[in-house]
Amino acid sequence: RAKRGGGGIACFFNREMDLAEHDRRKLEGDLRLAIARDEIDLAYQPVVCASTGRIKSCEALARWTHPSRGPIGPDIFISLAEECGLIGKLGKDLLRKACVDALCWPDDVSVALNLSANQFRGHTLPQQVAKVLAETGLNPRRLQLEVTESLVITDVEGTLRQLRDLRAQGIQILMDDFGTGYCSLSYFQQFCFDKVKLDRSFVRDVAVRESRAIIEAVIGLGQKLDMGIVAEGVETEQQMRLLVETGCTHLQGYLFGRPMPKDTIVDLLRNHSASQASSRITA
Ligand code: C2E
Ligand code: MG
Ligand code: MG
Ligand code: MG
Repeated sequence: RAKRGGGGIACFFNREMDLAEHDRRKLEGDLRLAIARDEIDLAYQPVVCASTGRIKSCEALARWTHPSRGPIGPDIFISLAEECGLIGKLGKDLLRKACVDALCWPDDVSVALNLSANQFRGHTLPQQVAKVLAETGLNPRRLQLEVTESLVITDVEGTLRQLRDLRAQGIQILMDDFGTGYCSLSYFQQFCFDKVKLDRSFVRDVAVRESRAIIEAVIGLGQKLDMGIVAEGVETEQQMRLLVETGCTHLQGYLFGRPMPKDTIVDLLRNHSASQASSRITA
């Protein structure tokens, strides 16, 4: 009896796992199809200069609307793409899309694209990026690549070599989600990032003493090493005031704009430039 019961439990767990595995396989297949059909889109979120409020760049964020499940977050499908070897193709497609889209924006607005650590594995990323820039005609100075702390953990030398190569092309390299991973401060000795993006968790708690202290320390590091500091996830006026006061150079978050479709961002940037021109005339 006990044996049968135990067998039942084992059997139950197996079925659960089979279902999860089946589900994953299905989603993987759907993702493969979506990539092949070019159905992964980019939404764009503005990043503003902390002192002038002008839009300096827009971050490209991948979007997938599944035919039956609806929108699936990039946190889910990007990791799935990484696990099943699809990120190489997807990453390349998104890079091209971001460059092409940015060509419709004013010249002084850059596009920021997130990279996955896997994209550095083949050691061909710098050449791939150079090729896309040449083919699309986007000025490399208008491209920013965002990498996370986890990137630098494996194959430090190989990664730094590629980052330096990209930088030599005129591309800006940003450290994303800073403070949440396992970044050793010694990376800053070996490679100077153009900007560091403070993770949303610190920004959310900016009024709390401990978070404030961490933010101030990172800003101090940024000022000494000539790195801009971008605050991510700014949602309130109070957060904005505190972050500007503390010395963040750039701000991003729902307060300034949510990620939006590419046509909407084109309109927004057009009106934004027009308002700049008219404020210059009236000034
Ligand atoms: P991330 O690069 O740190 O992007 C910022 C995330 O914060 C985005 O979530 C954005 O929508 C969200 N966000 C922006 N402002 C606010 C705010 O004021 N409040 C709150 N609560 N959230 C805000 P999203 O679009 O879901 O992207 C999640 C992550 O997925 C990204 O984090 C990035 O790591 C990854 N990801 C997105 N697109 C791509 C891509 O094209 N390639 C790669 N490799 N990763 C991507
Ligand atoms: Mg990012
Ligand atoms: Mg981030
Ligand atoms: Mg993130």
